[in-house]
Amino acid sequence: MYKFITFCLLILAKVSTSYGQSDEAIAMVNKIHTQALTQGKSYDWLRALCKGAGPRISGSLAYSNAVKIVSAQLKEIPGVEVRTQDVTVNYWQRGPRETVEAIPSRGKKWILKSLALGNSIGTGFKGIKADVVEVSSLDEVDKLGKEKLAGKIVFYNRRMDPGIIKSFNAYGRASDQRVSGPSRAAAQGALGVIVRSMTQELDDYPHTGSLRYSEDAPKIPALAISTNDAEKLSAQLKNGKVEIFMKDDPKTINGKNSPNVIGEIKGSESPEKVIVVGGHLDSWDVAEGAHDDGAGCVQAMEVLHLFHSLGYKPKNTIRVVLFSNEENGLEGARTYAASAINSREKYIAAIESDAGGFSPRGFTFDADTSVLKTYFRNVSKNFLPAMEGLGYQFEIGGSGADITPLKPTKAMLVGLRPDPQRYFDFHHTARDVFEAVHPRELKLGAAAMASLIYLIDAYGIE
Ligand SMILES: [Zn+2]
Repeated sequence: MYKFITFCLLILAKVSTSYGQSDEAIAMVNKIHTQALTQGKSYDWLRALCKGAGPRISGSLAYSNAVKIVSAQLKEIPGVEVRTQDVTVNYWQRGPRETVEAIPSRGKKWILKSLALGNSIGTGFKGIKADVVEVSSLDEVDKLGKEKLAGKIVFYNRRMDPGIIKSFNAYGRASDQRVSGPSRAAAQGALGVIVRSMTQELDDYPHTGSLRYSEDAPKIPALAISTNDAEKLSAQLKNGKVEIFMKDDPKTINGKNSPNVIGEIKGSESPEKVIVVGGHLDSWDVAEGAHDDGAGCVQAMEVLHLFHSLGYKPKNTIRVVLFSNEENGLEGARTYAASAINSREKYIAAIESDAGGFSPRGFTFDADTSVLKTYFRNVSKNFLPAMEGLGYQFEIGGSGADITPLKPTKAMLVGLRPDPQRYFDFHHTARDVFEAVHPRELKLGAAAMASLIYLIDAYGIE
């Protein structure tokens, strides 16, 4: 009996030591969350950024103002060193209000709610008027060919499928129409393109976003129209011909400096080892870019503030990078990655928040294929126990557009995954304003990132 009790005590001792680290980790993760909710600055910082700089496409004066605002905010945190990194961008300016008018052969003409696509060229002063042809895919454009499309305006109307539960997957299956659709239509002789907005809802807000002209087709103007107008136009086309008049005048100024902003706490044990946390500072020119991606910027900055205010001294350097030009060129990401790959620093991990300031649900993990499985096994085994009590899930998946170019450093790349259901109500529209972000949801996202970074910093991922 005595032996049996000793045996049981030994087992208990063993269990409590192996859970020791986990208890400490759980306590710290909870502390980080409470601190973010009660003492966090992210919401106030977001207000100052959105209302102070406003819409801030890279290369613009508003973007320069945003650089000043976030640099000053970072400097408020004791112990943080702040600098900028020059980034050369092509500054795209929308120009005067665009017009898209539908003139049906039968029925009344009407003005469609529209926005020129980022990086697009304009129609010229006179505008363009031509018959419109509705298509649902890039392949259909190839099939219709020059015979059906030369001299026409092509209308891409494949909807962002409302039946797909994960909204970002629905976006991924529809956005080729916006990104590559204009050049594919131009290759068949089309004069212009209009694209159904990228949202699963029916509403009156056009969603802008960037296109990519290919080298082997003429550049033609391209605009997004609201989903309600897309439905109406499609219905009219079932009754007969419709002519579209479109007019816009965007301009591109090449070679503008539009810097990344960097703030860091140097590591107390291994300053040459780096954990990056970031978002992108540029936004579209039609909104305050609160969800996309002011939220990600202030959440990244909050990580440093939380560590300071909790007295946590990171072993490794924790570096906030606020990237320029994510929306229409990714030059900020490219410039930073080039400097990282050429440096002597060792990149442990990079985490991006660029999916909206909504309630955090978990993280997706990516890395070079040689290390991804090991990293994911280690984080799931070692860190998930400290996070899953708060409802977080870990999955393998994409990280973020700004940190993906860091893959050659063999860093673990992580995307914060908030609830995605309302993101595409706001994405790239005039509705993406400060008031659309909920303070607790925003703060919890910052806490989630700070918690994961604390776990990586304190316990390692190798
Ligand atoms: Zn974004």
